[in-house]
Amino acid sequence: MHCVSAICTDLATPDTRLCAPCLSTLRTNLRTLPGLYKECERMLTPAHTGLTERISTTRSSTGIVLDEAVVEARGRMRDTLSSWCALVAEGRGIPAPAERDVAALAAFLTARLDWLAAHPAAGEFAAEIAELAGDATEALDPRRGRARGLGPCPRPGCTAVVALRPDTGGRVGCGSGHVWQPHEWLSLSSRLARQEYVA
Ligand SMILES: [Zn+2]
Ligand SMILES: [Zn+2]
Repeated sequence: MHCVSAICTDLATPDTRLCAPCLSTLRTNLRTLPGLYKECERMLTPAHTGLTERISTTRSSTGIVLDEAVVEARGRMRDTLSSWCALVAEGRGIPAPAERDVAALAAFLTARLDWLAAHPAAGEFAAEIAELAGDATEALDPRRGRARGLGPCPRPGCTAVVALRPDTGGRVGCGSGHVWQPHEWLSLSSRLARQEYVA
């Protein structure tokens, strides 16, 4: 049979649904996830925040600056790996990793890669793992110029997220069009700091 990986036309290796190169890519992607996850965590620590650094180097920026893309990539990594572990655990009749720790989840899946490669959902698995690695890599790319999420917009009735946008020369604004001038950043920053940002 043919490899079930998207846009691949190679023959699958015996007893699996993936060809050797696709299986090897899958293995590599799984191996990179724990490192990418750690790197995402590091990006979310106060030392890597943006807005308050621009406002004042003396102010503490704890907890107000969250990079949405990084937060999302990290959460999706944990959720996706957990659900594949649950599928393996159920299919094999073995317990899934007790903790939702990305390194443990990835190691669990890597150890059952042959079984997963033969599973009807092998193509979906390979695609999702590649997507996780790709999304995290992209989210961590400092050149991507995407908005850096700072917190929910404090304007009454607005539900958009305030972001620092490197692609517009560092403009600070929310998705609904509220914009803050540099002289307003300090008061904005303290308003954001007082809000609970639920990622
Ligand atoms: Zn293939
Ligand atoms: Zn707004």
